Amino acid sequence: MTKIASIEKNAIFPIGEPIENEYFFGTAYLEMLLTDSALNAPIGNVTFEPGARNNWHTHEAGQILLVTAGEGWYQEEGKPGQLLKAGDVVNIPADVKHWHGAVKDSWFVHLALTPGETTWLEPVTEEYYQQL
Ligand code: MN
Repeated sequence: MTKIASIEKNAIFPIGEPIENEYFFGTAYLEMLLTDSALNAPIGNVTFEPGARNNWHTHEAGQILLVTAGEGWYQEEGKPGQLLKAGDVVNIPADVKHWHGAVKDSWFVHLALTPGETTWLEPVTEEYYQQL
């Protein structure tokens, strides 16, 4: 069984399709579970391959991450990275610059509740990521 097949077999929510934009490094997958939610917060299931992560970014109305599988990083600018595992919840305030993604050697899966717009910034450099 391939890695992705194994992840899919054990996944709680659908994995979806590879994310095709310039704001992610490596391969990540997105399945939107709700786009027009009653709380005005679309919910996406995001699956990162090992080493994959998003650029630094901000959310105008904040974001909540619910980790469902694997191991990953969440980091706010100027603070140490937080190691995340299944069951962790991250409450990201509005307009706080941050990034999230997988650790080097594990897949990472989280639900992302994201009301409002996201502003994408610069990539997390390889040198920086490798020092975590
Ligand atoms: Mn975010």
